[in-house]
Amino acid sequence: MKKYIIIIALFIGVLACKTNPFTGKSTLNFYPNSQIFPMAFAQYDQFLSDNKVVDNTTDAKMITKVGQRISSASERWLTANGYPGYLKDYKWEYHLVQDSTVNAWCMPGGKIVFYTGILPIAKNETGVAVVMGHEVAHALADHGAQRMSASTLQQLGAVAGNIAIQDEQTRNTFNQAYGLGSTLGVLLPFSRSQETEADRIGLQIMAIAGYDPGEAAELWKRMSAKSGGQAPPEFLSTHPSNETRISNLTAWAPLARQEAAKFGVTSFQ
Ligand SMILES: [Zn+2]
Repeated sequence: MKKYIIIIALFIGVLACKTNPFTGKSTLNFYPNSQIFPMAFAQYDQFLSDNKVVDNTTDAKMITKVGQRISSASERWLTANGYPGYLKDYKWEYHLVQDSTVNAWCMPGGKIVFYTGILPIAKNETGVAVVMGHEVAHALADHGAQRMSASTLQQLGAVAGNIAIQDEQTRNTFNQAYGLGSTLGVLLPFSRSQETEADRIGLQIMAIAGYDPGEAAELWKRMSAKSGGQAPPEFLSTHPSNETRISNLTAWAPLARQEAAKFGVTSFQ
């Protein structure tokens, strides 16, 4: 019986491998956007109504402006690479929330929150673009759906033979994968390889949006310096900072500028 379940699981796994244009990799993901996005949108609205959204300040307007530039850069990149309409189900939204927590996140379908607490570390618009690019990249690379798929495959072993993925189960898996529920809005850490992927994709889209990718390493240095103080930033518990990350970002910045040049972007703010 166990062997039978493993074979079914592998079969689903093979069927569910889709190539993501941003990563160029075929990764396990059997949750279509049509199933995940409505859940993310509902959770996002819930989060906004439970928290203090900052509107119409200079900072709030900057978050929206950076978000729009980053999302439009990713759409330009997709169109240029043969994937027009890839983001048609996305409903981009960018909000600043009054909270001293040093954090920011992006839920599936382009639902973004920045906490006011991360602004001093972001320091300026380019720093916000580093964080925005990275968070948007997690969404573009379907990292959350991959985590859900991996966890569902594990559960398959337990739910002997029941391969029908019901809505209720999917909702539970979604909540677990995003760490939602009791700690709404605090997302679980991504894996190290997903972090590296988000760094690389984030650099490219921020550069295409006209932001200096060389500032990414500086942002992470400021984040690391902050963790040397009293309480490490929340952002660091989900986004480990290390020497490798900073040296990768430094090495990749020129490549991101080259990618931006293909879009006619040669000067950066
Ligand atoms: Zn990340």
